[in-house]
Amino acid sequence: TAGTPQSDMAALLTEIPDHPSSGVVFRDLAGLYAEPGMLARLASHVAERLDGQFDRILAVESRGFVLGAALAALTGRPLSLARKAGKLPGPVYEADYALEYGRDRLEVQKSALCPGDRVLCVDDVLATGGTLHAAARLVTVSGARVAGLVALVALRGLGGQQRLSGHSVLALCEVP
Ligand code: AMP
Repeated sequence: TAGTPQSDMAALLTEIPDHPSSGVVFRDLAGLYAEPGMLARLASHVAERLDGQFDRILAVESRGFVLGAALAALTGRPLSLARKAGKLPGPVYEADYALEYGRDRLEVQKSALCPGDRVLCVDDVLATGGTLHAAARLVTVSGARVAGLVALVALRGLGGQQRLSGHSVLALCEVP
């Protein structure tokens, strides 16, 4: 089985102070994605931890698409995309949320989620939890169920884990 990736991951993250705005410490995952074999290893780790307890993956635009796609390819589970406002054609569910830097809205096509499905929501970074909370709301409003919330990196001290405490949250790496 894949070991806990925390320490290998932490060494591949880059901190960029004051990006995209003053006071925000941006966590750049580019080095993580560029590391040969790392994405497959992380997807395997998530798949093992979740042990088949989900029917569908909902990946959050845009950086959640990376792990979401890897996980879908590995597990054979259907992949649905939660996109920013105005990108998706046809009827959509909407969820507004506040970001660490700004406000935004997520949407998902109504046809992309089925009532009763156990849906795993995936993003790259968990900061305040607003984004994954919005993704979870898209799932519940559709009549589907939230199987869990996954982030590659969770930032401590922003209250994200507490905010999402009604759900099962898997963060592969925690940073201060
Ligand atoms: P939040 O909704 O506050 O949990 O923020 C998570 C979302 O915003 C994710 O989609 C991240 O890509 C992005 N994000 C927020 N804060 C950061 C940060 N410090 N470094 C990198 N990405 C971030």
